[in-house]
Amino acid sequence: MSIDVIAVVGAGTMGHGIAHVAALAGAQVRLYDLDEAVVSRGLQAIAANLAKGVARGKVDEATLDATVARISGGTDLAQAVAGADLVVEAVPEKLELKRSLFAAVEPHVGARAILATNTSSLSIARISEAVTRPGQVIGLHFFNPVHIMQLLEIVVHDGTAPVVLQACREWGAAIGKQCITVKDFPGFATSRLGVCLGMEAIRMVEQGVASAEDIDTAMVLGYRHPIGPLRLTDLVGVDVRMHIGEYLAKELGNAAFEPPDLMRRMVADGLLGKKTGRGFYSWES
Ligand code: NAD
Repeated sequence: MSIDVIAVVGAGTMGHGIAHVAALAGAQVRLYDLDEAVVSRGLQAIAANLAKGVARGKVDEATLDATVARISGGTDLAQAVAGADLVVEAVPEKLELKRSLFAAVEPHVGARAILATNTSSLSIARISEAVTRPGQVIGLHFFNPVHIMQLLEIVVHDGTAPVVLQACREWGAAIGKQCITVKDFPGFATSRLGVCLGMEAIRMVEQGVASAEDIDTAMVLGYRHPIGPLRLTDLVGVDVRMHIGEYLAKELGNAAFEPPDLMRRMVADGLLGKKTGRGFYSWES
């Protein structure tokens, strides 16, 4: 099964990154979102990240131009997914939203099209129940920033067709990712550990144990983490992590994942991290 045409639904933090790596590896990519302005921002971010790659000598000018030319953007869902071999959704971490999105996509794609979700934690099986061909549904969990992070966590539910898994493993390798295959269990192999640490770090800020900077420094220098849990929460999105935490607290029956009050207040106040300029850190400059 070859993957030559890819539709990416949701042009936010993850969607534009997935479009970037897919087009860089040679696919025709359609980037879709609800709003033209968001699509434009996504396309601009891809061009800017490729330009940084040129400045660092990692990408040449011709590759930048060819990559950008392979990506089109739009707000017509049927048009975006028509003829796609692979549809990857990167819309907010809400089960019903992802289910209704795939239900809306399915009538416009061929029977062999792979429907992949970039969910960080939600049940792939439950998402797959929204379509008539659940065997085509799989989790392709990328990491942020997608064009830099090497990991691709492939999540299979009991009904995922083996041919779909195989095609995704091959495509993951073709776009330069190191793939791991994980069973469909809340939080998979990554978010369950990462989000637990993040929630505990936020509770420590709330309790006045230390500043965000000092907690992050403790993990970076004391435990050799490449980045502290609070800076990482800012990069991921405070809101994104809050949604993951709420889901995992319920599904795993573990209060350690429950978002602390400080996190809920930050989300209500729009302090979502890097994407809004402020979170545990200021990103305005
Ligand atoms: P984001 O908020 O940056 O982007 C989400 C985008 O989806 C927005 O542009 C929004 O306009 C769009 N959207 C909302 N409803 C839509 C709809 N019905 N149709 C099309 N587009 C719609 O979020 P994100 O950080 O990119 O996260 C997206 C998904 O990726 C989530 O499931 C999240 O858990 C997962 N994820 C996030 C990260 C991260 O570091 N941010 C990492 C791995 C996985």
